Amino acid sequence: MPVLDFDLLSRFVDVPSAARRMLERSEKEIQCSLSLRVDHDRVIDATCYVVYHSLARGPAKGGIRMTPTVTMEHTRDLAERMTFKASLVRIPFGGGKSAICVDGSALTRFEKTAFLREYCHILQFELQHGAYIPAPDMGTDATDMAVIFGRFDRPDVVTGKPPRIGGLPGRNEATGRGVARVCELVAARLDGVGMGSAPLAGKRVAVQGFGNVGRWTARFCAERGAKVVAITDIHGGCYAEDGLDLDALWPLSGVTLGTNRNGYGLVSNEDLFALDVDLLVPAACEDQITGEVAEKVRARAVVEGANGPVTPGGDRVLHARGITVAPDILANAGGVIASYVEWRNAKSGSITDKQDTYDTIEQTLDRAFDDVDGFAREQQTDHRTAAHAIALREVVESMRDRCWI
Ligand code: NAD
Repeated sequence: MPVLDFDLLSRFVDVPSAARRMLERSEKEIQCSLSLRVDHDRVIDATCYVVYHSLARGPAKGGIRMTPTVTMEHTRDLAERMTFKASLVRIPFGGGKSAICVDGSALTRFEKTAFLREYCHILQFELQHGAYIPAPDMGTDATDMAVIFGRFDRPDVVTGKPPRIGGLPGRNEATGRGVARVCELVAARLDGVGMGSAPLAGKRVAVQGFGNVGRWTARFCAERGAKVVAITDIHGGCYAEDGLDLDALWPLSGVTLGTNRNGYGLVSNEDLFALDVDLLVPAACEDQITGEVAEKVRARAVVEGANGPVTPGGDRVLHARGITVAPDILANAGGVIASYVEWRNAKSGSITDKQDTYDTIEQTLDRAFDDVDGFAREQQTDHRTAAHAIALREVVESMRDRCWI
């Protein structure tokens, strides 16, 4: 099912039927099988999916997910979100995604590297020609991007690399940096204050996900004065009324976050959503806040760090209850903004330092947030509809520019 509700959006954007037909299905989908012999009698097999949703605005950009439950349907959904995320922040990339259906955490480093080399071999045409430019997503990280770089020895083939080999200082934490900025913008709007007045100071924040996006979001929110009172991963997590010491939690992962008490209380994922906080940041995975869960949310706003963490049913309930939602294509766009800078540097030879990366993310998100918030007020609609309408209009206009419609 498409992420965008074209019938709803046609109230705000003129979408010719040819454009709608093109955007309702992917431009290209590839399914292939990866097999790796890891021992004399053991072969690991995995299905790999690659989707280009729309290339109207540029080459397909999107991360590689490596999880045991991922499907073509998920990959399609994520690629579509990338099309509209890049267009909302006005970056000349199209939407893409790839996924390898295997539990990366159960592989040794050697096995994972061998698997990624097989991925590069099978997709060499797509990668070599720059038709699809991967980056990290769930289950993959900068080291994995270094492996891909090593197969082609060209820094523009992949983003999210370690900085010493053409990666961008600040890219690793870019998505969390952006989510924290959107938290700040949302907090300022809720209180009707300017950004100069430290809108996150004293705000209570709960974060689901202690991976790349969740942990960096928590850290940057805390740096801006927020009290991060709870954080969970897949096994649950911990809670502290006066705020968690994130430095102490930083080395923990997997089962240890929810069992290593550090003097803190324990909290399940379900309880996290019902905490009395100002901002709730689901930054783990999709479909977490359903209609039923949304009834229990007590936060003033939900900022989507993950892709698709609120279901359409959850969205309706949150909207009806007057809870602001900052949609994923806005809130977690820091990663693709930084990836664009990394890719552009790879093409031009320019160098960017960490502060420049942070400034670019924040300035770009500030502009996008103003656009979305302004549209929502003018059209008396919610932020998700506003973000989708602006992003869709950009893609349709790009199609016109290219005489596709
Ligand atoms: P990650 O693999 O680094 O971390 C995922 C975290 O979520 C882990 O703490 C894991 O324990 C937790 N988790 C997984 N399944 C869960 C479940 N069912 N319930 C509760 N917790 C669960 O992944 P990440 O890179 O941080 O990505 C998280 C989300 O953000 C994904 O939706 C991803 O698509 C999105 N995203 C990531 C980036 C990026 O730059 N990494 C950019 C944009 C969006």
